[in-house]
Amino acid sequence: MTGRWIEVADGVHARRYEELDLTVGLVVGADRCLVVDTRGDLEQGAELAAAVRELTPLPWSVVFTHAHFDHTWGTEAFGPCAVWAHEGCRAELTEYAEGARAKWIDYYREQGKAQTADAIARTTFVVPDHLFTDRTELDLGGRTAVLLHPGRAHTDHDVVVHVPDVDVLFAGDVVENAEHGFSAFSFSAESDLTAWPDTFDRLLELRPRVIVPGHGDPVDADFVRYHRHGLHELIALKAAMGRGETTEAAAVAASRYPSDVTLAALATP
Ligand SMILES: [Zn+2]
Repeated sequence: MTGRWIEVADGVHARRYEELDLTVGLVVGADRCLVVDTRGDLEQGAELAAAVRELTPLPWSVVFTHAHFDHTWGTEAFGPCAVWAHEGCRAELTEYAEGARAKWIDYYREQGKAQTADAIARTTFVVPDHLFTDRTELDLGGRTAVLLHPGRAHTDHDVVVHVPDVDVLFAGDVVENAEHGFSAFSFSAESDLTAWPDTFDRLLELRPRVIVPGHGDPVDADFVRYHRHGLHELIALKAAMGRGETTEAAAVAASRYPSDVTLAALATP
């Protein structure tokens, strides 16, 4: 269950995994490095920490793009370090992580992945200790990483990481590159479908050359523009259903996304 580094710019790396099609990141400065998300349990986190050490010996800090387990539960393996996140992420991890643990242990046992279930059972959650609400800058030595909350989208506490000197943006699950772009996991009760297009606009205003999604291979700005149209379609379908002008089946048939993705989007609050 190892990963594969992709150097998307000089000293800026995405790491891809088969498990959940996850993508995490690493930004290397002259003095420090920043790890973007830590995978889903202590063993996965240890694999990532060792992989980072193959690229750089520099001291690290961590940033969470959002609280979901596959992005945050590997942090224990990084030892004591600064862990950055939106303040809403801290509340989410403090209040819901223990309940989510049982859910994901069951999920992996049902999939026959006992080792992952056991690793989640043994994982200690690390709560972020460096919090912000809108924007903050980290000086990595000769390079700045800008952490910002672009608005509500996948969750109410999404954070993206902008590396302006090379025009790279780590977008967490605000951007997904599954087979059809969004996946059924993109949309949940925590998501804000209506706000999402404006959040995409805030990403596009940064004029990124490379956008690293939370799942799937890196994409470009045109990918985000295409799915911005897709979001507007989903919003319109949801509104038409709300007014009784269309049925769920007709909305699914009219959508550019597969039925499971469309139904997840229509079920958002
Ligand atoms: Zn997520």
